[in-house]
Amino acid sequence: MDTLQSMYESLGISPKVYAVGEEICRQLKERFARIDEIAQFNQLKVLKAMQDNQVGEACLLGTTGYGYSDLGRETLEKVYARIFHTEDALVRPQITCGTHALALALMSNMRPGDELLSVSGKPYDTLEEVIGIRPSKGSLAEYGITYRQADLKEDGTFDLDAIKAAIRPETRMITLQRSKGYQTRPSFHVSEIGEIIAFCKKIKPDVIIMVDNCYGEFTDYIEPGDVGADLVVGSLIKNPGGGLAPIGGYLAGTRECVENAAYRLTSPGLGKEVGATLGTLPSLYQGLFLAPTVTASALKSAIFAAHLYERFGYSCYPSADTPRADIIQSITLGSADALIAFCKGIQSAAPVDSFVVPEPWDMPGYDSQVIMAAGAFVSGSSIELSADGPLKEPYNVYFQGGLTWPHGKFGILKSFQSMVDSGLILW
Ligand SMILES: *Cc1c(COP(=O)(O)O)cnc(C)c1O
Repeated sequence: MDTLQSMYESLGISPKVYAVGEEICRQLKERFARIDEIAQFNQLKVLKAMQDNQVGEACLLGTTGYGYSDLGRETLEKVYARIFHTEDALVRPQITCGTHALALALMSNMRPGDELLSVSGKPYDTLEEVIGIRPSKGSLAEYGITYRQADLKEDGTFDLDAIKAAIRPETRMITLQRSKGYQTRPSFHVSEIGEIIAFCKKIKPDVIIMVDNCYGEFTDYIEPGDVGADLVVGSLIKNPGGGLAPIGGYLAGTRECVENAAYRLTSPGLGKEVGATLGTLPSLYQGLFLAPTVTASALKSAIFAAHLYERFGYSCYPSADTPRADIIQSITLGSADALIAFCKGIQSAAPVDSFVVPEPWDMPGYDSQVIMAAGAFVSGSSIELSADGPLKEPYNVYFQGGLTWPHGKFGILKSFQSMVDSGLILW
């Protein structure tokens, strides 16, 4: 018995499950080499942005109080702007999450009477309340900002006729979501995003185009800023935080759009000038530095999961061979027992809270029970190995993350072993 296999065995992976995992890894060598090449490219992109902006030791110190002249914060924002190829960026621990960053982008760049258009169909769940699709206090709707939506075509591609018809004189902003999130439709590659941006700008050159970039960062050679997006927005407890950022969000975009967002985040008149970084800067910089390889690990984990589960007859979305544009993998498990067993396996693979057992619960805002598995260093971090799913037909589990590929692989094998041990997989 080789020592690697015995190490797996000591963590509860049977020789049979180990063997099937190894076989799939051999099959994936070439595909993983292509992912490593993207990671290599993005590592150099991040490094060059840090070097060219002279990130120095003093940048790691941070400020307290008002945070005037915070060198580290100002430099980090230049580094983000360079990476996303935009004029400016706002990167702050005061941005509490991805939804906050997106809300900030929308609320600061529209005024009463303006209209927002989504060209990628229904936006991410939490944005429904920001926009006012579901009535909510402080929504755009309450401020007299209207909303329109061009649904995607049945095959998940942009509906150009519907988009053309929906762009009107009052259309001030267009939003577009790169990742499918928790829907079943293809995620968009940056090249596709570029085509739709060009299409919209041709119809209305002054429209502001925002891309919800959550889960997409560093999965490709280019980012939406390279193909004409006016605002690129995301969360630091996903890909760009590299697992180290303890909080935060970013907006990268045109000078004017970012300036508007800064005045909204702090106050008119103050804008980017205030906002102490406290002790967060070392992890924001180091997390960004690690983000390309961390994202590659999460991508490999998703692809490995799809290959393993497809082999045993489960349908996966995206399917195993689909080129990736984000890190989310969904697997249709078909029964409550399988969903629970899967999540228990993921939980038992965690570095933190591996000894707790996840159970379905009535989560506010959901019409069925939900089960979640996460044992993360940063609470709620979905760049770390995690899985969740609603207990209803067709019992889809959504799986994402993996700070390192060996850990992602181990987590998937644990999920599978858990299903085998529960008698749900017979082979
Ligand atoms: C996660 C996510 C969001 C919201 O981010 P939170 O940090 O959960 O508020 C928005 N859009 C997409 C596509 C996401 O994946």
